[in-house]
Amino acid sequence: MVDLRGQYEKIKEEVDTAVLNVIQSTAFIRGPEVKSLEKELQEYLSVKHVITCGNGTDALQIALMALDLKPGDEVITTSFTFIATVEVISLLGLVPIMVDIDPNTFNIDSEEMAKAITDKTKAIIPVHLYGQCADMESIMNMARENNLYVIEDTAQAIGADYTFTDGSTKKAGTIGTIGCTSFFPSKNLGCFGDGGAIFTDDDALAEKLRIVANHGMRVKYYHDVIGVNSRLDNLQAAVLRIKLRSLDNYKKARNEAANYYDEAFKSSEQIKTPERHPSSDHAFHQYTLQIEGGGRDGLKEHLAHKDIPAMIYYPVPLHKQKAFKNSEYVEPVLPVTDLLTEKVISLPMHTELTEEQLKYISESVLEFFNN
Ligand SMILES: *Cc1c(COP(=O)(O)O)cnc(C)c1O
Repeated sequence: MVDLRGQYEKIKEEVDTAVLNVIQSTAFIRGPEVKSLEKELQEYLSVKHVITCGNGTDALQIALMALDLKPGDEVITTSFTFIATVEVISLLGLVPIMVDIDPNTFNIDSEEMAKAITDKTKAIIPVHLYGQCADMESIMNMARENNLYVIEDTAQAIGADYTFTDGSTKKAGTIGTIGCTSFFPSKNLGCFGDGGAIFTDDDALAEKLRIVANHGMRVKYYHDVIGVNSRLDNLQAAVLRIKLRSLDNYKKARNEAANYYDEAFKSSEQIKTPERHPSSDHAFHQYTLQIEGGGRDGLKEHLAHKDIPAMIYYPVPLHKQKAFKNSEYVEPVLPVTDLLTEKVISLPMHTELTEEQLKYISESVLEFFNN
């Protein structure tokens, strides 16, 4: 699904030198690489504050903790995402309200979101799934009208650009109140372990986020609030600084692979290729097909026989996960989510795909339907 070795080989010398330098400096925690990375991300994203942290899940948790929500407050989000998005809501005693998605973009349906708003709703977490931004203009308008916080989960979409109807653009993760991302190795900007970051333009909130991420302390050993311990290693920051310089090229490579797949599958009746929303470009964290006519699982097996990895993101939507089923849980009815769970399959997608590989993969996919 990914080729981290191939990507590493191309930047090996730079990365090895940077990592060795950190080891020799012995500044492992809160070192200069972390500071530089935060500054470079601020510039790249055009956002006022970047707070790095331990991973993408922590980023979401710290964001919710910094917003002073109370147990029982409702947070609207999608069920068609990785568990982290919803897990942290429940963990903090908040109530996740999962709503349905748009069948073309896989992202949260802003009309369904509007219908779910109640007196208890305090925040919305749109997820930019597979690398494409959710319908942020509608979401931001709705949030303003209802006085809600917006936390963007941009773990899969760092580097994607969103264009508003007035023509202005913003980077994914810098549109809402807070943006959260992950540097998990297979993400579009991945380190060599765990890592994450939080983005905001709000000065007061930025300070709160830093405090929460650092044991609730502003001054060493004086704890103002209950926080967590979540930080990015200096070693990981050194790697990320090098990769950040290539992020736009990585996005380009992913888009070229996606365009190849699109072209290969365009005349197949059973295969629906991923739609490009006019407001967002696509960072193609995943290239995800919808298979019509029930052949999805057969296709996955066929590809496995040909040594082609393919993945189902995600095989069980979160609203049907056992973890959420307690005595108070009312399972929402999400027909689009349920249907897409049966239809989606993601093909290998990364920065190092060769034309030969793309040809082999797409011919193997088509072969399944033509036999
Ligand atoms: C990967 C991911 C996360 C969590 O990131 P970690 O760094 O693994 O904790 C959160 N949300 C989404 C949508 C993700 O894909």
